[in-house]
Amino acid sequence: MSNDLSIRNLTVNYGPVRALHDVSFDVPEGRIAALVGSNGAGKSTVLKAICGMVDPVSGTIQVGGETVPSKPGAALRRGVALSPEGRRLFPALSVEENLFMGAYTVSNRKARDEMLERVYGYFPRLKERKRQAAGSLSGGEQQMCAIGRALMAQPRVLLLDEPSLGIAPIIVAELGRIIAQISQSLGMTVLLVEQNAQMALSLASTGIVLETGRVTLTGSGQDLLASPDIRAAYLGL
Ligand code: ATP
Repeated sequence: MSNDLSIRNLTVNYGPVRALHDVSFDVPEGRIAALVGSNGAGKSTVLKAICGMVDPVSGTIQVGGETVPSKPGAALRRGVALSPEGRRLFPALSVEENLFMGAYTVSNRKARDEMLERVYGYFPRLKERKRQAAGSLSGGEQQMCAIGRALMAQPRVLLLDEPSLGIAPIIVAELGRIIAQISQSLGMTVLLVEQNAQMALSLASTGIVLETGRVTLTGSGQDLLASPDIRAAYLGL
């Protein structure tokens, strides 16, 4: 199986602060990888580097075997879509208008409308609320709308930044099931960035643990969930 996303020796500084040290990992095609770590570990910085929002000191990012230049929009053009932390929806626009915003690079109307129906299939709550202002959705529904908006770009690689943040546990479980269903039914490659290690590792074929900017462990999601170090550090067990 080939790797859809490959990160090699990525090092990022914010002024004098080194946020990532020589980070390398792969996400195989059609699989879910979970990037877990505590506050400030550097998870969001990895996503920013993939999306060209920070300029790495060194390292390479490849999507589908092609190197992505460090420029905003370069990853999107190669089929990467980000569902950002904190939702960042257009609060005054309706749910459906927000979803269409995600499809601005898709010129084929039929393909766009088919994806909209798929998104409504994954998230029936969004269909019920399609004319409602996005700003009036619950936190969990806003997260669903943000994931739906990223899917509307029909990406080959979907980046999810902390989808469980601030969301009730029952909705986190629902989101987890939907993320697995999206990856399976569309054969989509997913990089799931989470502080909620339990949720993320239980979905992932590959888990990557980041601590103070370094990869300290990689393994299958199941192996990491069973590891005494992970259970003590991230699962409170
Ligand atoms: P969280 O889960 O809390 O979002 P994270 O794992 O995503 O954390 P990052 O946001 O990537 O962590 O931050 C990694 C490190 O880089 C932290 O020490 C953070 O304070 C620092 N950092 C992040 N953004 C900046 C910035 N714009 N300027 C300076 N330092 C920053």
